[in-house]
Amino acid sequence: MCVFCEIISGNIPSTKVYEDDMMVAFKDLNPVAPVHILAVPKEHIDCANDIDSSNSKYVAHIFEKLGEIAKSQGIESYRIINNCGSDAGQTVMHLHFHLIGGCELGEKLI
Ligand code: 5GP
Ligand code: ZN
Repeated sequence: MCVFCEIISGNIPSTKVYEDDMMVAFKDLNPVAPVHILAVPKEHIDCANDIDSSNSKYVAHIFEKLGEIAKSQGIESYRIINNCGSDAGQTVMHLHFHLIGGCELGEKLI
């Protein structure tokens, strides 16, 4: 089982800030900003390349909830990042979206 599946099943502890039947959001272990949340589908999807019509509802659901989760952390301005694959720096092969904010964010790539 991958590390995020272990977190979803409760085998690895995490600081959860939101959970429902389709997703969980928890604090990143190594935050890069005052708010750094990982939003993760409860279905294991390796990466963005594997999003298809059978599982895109998880992605849609996460994006429906991100604003609410950000607000619960006291922010309305934030960056959402997904790393897909090794060149992009993906280290956990379970699709996730970084929700980052709580300060003026650094230089943008785009
Ligand atoms: P990636 O580099 O794959 O886009 O992001 C993986 C993120 O997962 C990293 O920011 C890393 O700090 C975080 N992470 C890795 N293992 C754990 C863990 O066991 N618990 C938590 N809360 N975050 C983790
Ligand atoms: Zn997984």
